[in-house]
Amino acid sequence: MEKYYEELIALRRNFRQIAEVGWLEMQTTINIIKYLKMLGLDVKYGREIHSADRMGLPSEEVMSEHGKKVNTDNLNFDVSDILKGYTGCIVEINSSNPGKNFGFRFDIDALPLHETDDPEHIPNKLGFRSKDNSTDHACGHDGHIAMGLGLCHWIVDNIEKLSGNFRIIFQPAEEGVRGGKSMTAAGAADGLDYMIASHIGMNEKIGVVGVGSTGFLATSKFDLSYEGVTAHAGANPQDGRNALLAAASAALSLHTLPQYSTGSSRINVGVLNAGTGRNIVPGESYMQIETRGSDELILNDLSKRVEQVARGTAESFDVKYNLSKVGEAINFETIHPEFIDYMAEKLDEKGFTTHLRPNLGGSEDVSYMLKRVEELGGYSIHYMLGTTLKAPHHNVAFDYDESVLKLGLDTYISTIEILSDK
Ligand SMILES: [Zn+2]
Repeated sequence: MEKYYEELIALRRNFRQIAEVGWLEMQTTINIIKYLKMLGLDVKYGREIHSADRMGLPSEEVMSEHGKKVNTDNLNFDVSDILKGYTGCIVEINSSNPGKNFGFRFDIDALPLHETDDPEHIPNKLGFRSKDNSTDHACGHDGHIAMGLGLCHWIVDNIEKLSGNFRIIFQPAEEGVRGGKSMTAAGAADGLDYMIASHIGMNEKIGVVGVGSTGFLATSKFDLSYEGVTAHAGANPQDGRNALLAAASAALSLHTLPQYSTGSSRINVGVLNAGTGRNIVPGESYMQIETRGSDELILNDLSKRVEQVARGTAESFDVKYNLSKVGEAINFETIHPEFIDYMAEKLDEKGFTTHLRPNLGGSEDVSYMLKRVEELGGYSIHYMLGTTLKAPHHNVAFDYDESVLKLGLDTYISTIEILSDK
């Protein structure tokens, strides 16, 4: 197994350097496909793995600018769709022995952050930090890609001994919850007996496997912009309509909303940009907002209230507003709790240290795939792979103990072994 473990680390360090954000994982997708083709696999990618209405796409300009930086030299496959933001890919590896249909999902995107320049940061010390100062694998999806590829490598090497079929899904745009819905709508999770996914870190202790993550929050992501009227702030402010004040007022109102006794709820205004100059009544503002709820009733109610605040504030400041939904994820709670108990017991027997039902306490759009498989009669499980974090997720100094990659691969392989015998 040693060769796989070493490869996981090398892969993780390579992908960290080319960190790309949601729908722009063009180089990342190309490099994943190159690796899979090297293993002799057929890869599905591009338009055929996505729905027609992907949410939260970057502008065409951003997309084509990014596409120019992508290295497409010496490729023997068509990348035109990938360069249009149809990122991610799916590979199917079928054994010749009858058995179960397994699905595994790995997310591949990074975050819009400037990775820390601290020389003590391990990626700086060892030279594998993000080469782009505006992107950073600060959630560990570099490790997820490595585990997904390592799993493919192991399956290919062991296919004679295995039974059933294996579908490995490399999903783009998890941050901002956009890719999961698109791929699920295009059938990524159809026809599976088991759906297996995981996340490294979170609050799990090093060496521990959290089995059957709970606390997936349903979420909606919104962009809100106000358009007012600019005017001279000294000479004739009465002619202006202030889009900055509308946004500031809306931000305060929005943060008073999440009060529910029936479950948990969250709201966050994460971005507010407005105005163009000191002596000008600001004519434009732009906000990024997210809502979360432990169930769809809370989420839908909260989202309706966001609409009311956006509209009401526009009315009171006499400005125009535009509210659009740019991302979405459902919650997930398994309908087969006994399956989670079974898996934890079997993993314990194999020598793993497990932690039953860890709390994710966030949103993850693999929820669409987990739910879809259960709806069609299969079983789904989400693992939390414990590791020591140098800084919290989404922090510029985020990094993790790489032993988690081995733990992850071992967990995936053991899961296949356990379920093949079931
Ligand atoms: Zn993540």
